[in-house]
Amino acid sequence: MKMCPKWRPEKYFYDRFCVQLENWSKGGEKPALADQDTAYYLSLLEDRLRRKGLNYQLELERAEEDAPSARCFAGEHYSNQWEFASVRKRVVYTKNGRTLYRKKSDQTLYQMTTSADTPEEIGEKPCTCPNCGAVTRTADLVKGCPYCQARFQMSELFPKVTNFYFIRMDSQSRLKKKVSVIISAFILLTFVWMLLQRIVGGEFSLGIVLHSLFAAILAGGFTGLILTGPIIFLSMILFNSSRDVPFRAIFTKKQIIEFMKPLEPGFSYEYFEGQLMSLLRMVVLSNDVKNLAAFGGEARSDCFDHVIDLVYEGGMTVRKLYTDQDYIHMDLRTYMLDSYEENGRIYTRGDPIDISIERKRNQRPDPGFSIKLVRCKGCGGSFDASFRKTCPYCGRVYDMRNESWVMTRAVRVR
Ligand SMILES: [Zn+2]
Ligand SMILES: [Zn+2]
Repeated sequence: MKMCPKWRPEKYFYDRFCVQLENWSKGGEKPALADQDTAYYLSLLEDRLRRKGLNYQLELERAEEDAPSARCFAGEHYSNQWEFASVRKRVVYTKNGRTLYRKKSDQTLYQMTTSADTPEEIGEKPCTCPNCGAVTRTADLVKGCPYCQARFQMSELFPKVTNFYFIRMDSQSRLKKKVSVIISAFILLTFVWMLLQRIVGGEFSLGIVLHSLFAAILAGGFTGLILTGPIIFLSMILFNSSRDVPFRAIFTKKQIIEFMKPLEPGFSYEYFEGQLMSLLRMVVLSNDVKNLAAFGGEARSDCFDHVIDLVYEGGMTVRKLYTDQDYIHMDLRTYMLDSYEENGRIYTRGDPIDISIERKRNQRPDPGFSIKLVRCKGCGGSFDASFRKTCPYCGRVYDMRNESWVMTRAVRVR
């Protein structure tokens, strides 16, 4: 295996978060670069592992020399940037000092970084106090945290990692691997076949071996190259198991963009995909889903209580997209690679999950929205909606659909 270049936290923001994430998994503090919702996801994960009595260690290595790639899109007062790179991920789960599970895999790590363009205009937005960890308004932290009185510069509060998730080795590198396997197989077969013919014909010498090898590389390699496309295509149709991302997932992005364009100008599919991942994670990892404002509560599979890790397979399919008078609805099937712990056994399986989400129509998505600090429409009070659905001040039911996507259904298929 080739040597992997080290993280360069002093050079890349992306790398700094990776290092902080590793330290967190080894029992350190939550990443300082994580915003309140990302930190909330990490505490859900911590809580799940604690309930299972598991210890988790994550090691990340850069899989490529290149700097992380980035895709930017701007929101009002914010700019968001998805950065992604191939990483070599190593996870180890231990229980009472005994190793239960270890796995190494190449995955793509997506990180969304949010920076504030116009600091004075985001004063109302939630932010975590870097000193005491309380979630409060950004303007308060500049004037002095209401809980610990510490004061901060805007540059200490932003940018933040507002979302991150892993995708199983991206389809491109998986394809590259398949292509090289197919071509090598063709070369080997041609070589063996040519050599056998010569041997059967009574000839054998080093020259013949070399000659056959040379011819095999040319002929076999060429045939392999030509047939690779059709072979991959056929194998996807014939051998794709129901748990794998189906071929038609390549049309999903286009379908969703076309559906959303008239409903939300400037809709970003990448941003949406990230939102969906963080919603699904919350619903799957929450131990008290009844009081989670992000869940509308029709159905959630009980088996999710045993999930200890979720990796996105990088694809989903559309079941139904529709609107009614007030709401936008989407029924989708997402493809995940989930790790479970049951009775001291850890296993990973491909999980197709049927999800339904809804959101109020005619509402501009707010990139500064945080479930950790929402505002009651009745009395204007602010509270944390990750463990309650009613305002603690006036008792009004808080409906998160007015501000963001809410999941109403998350059911594992098969
Ligand atoms: Zn504070
Ligand atoms: Zn209220």
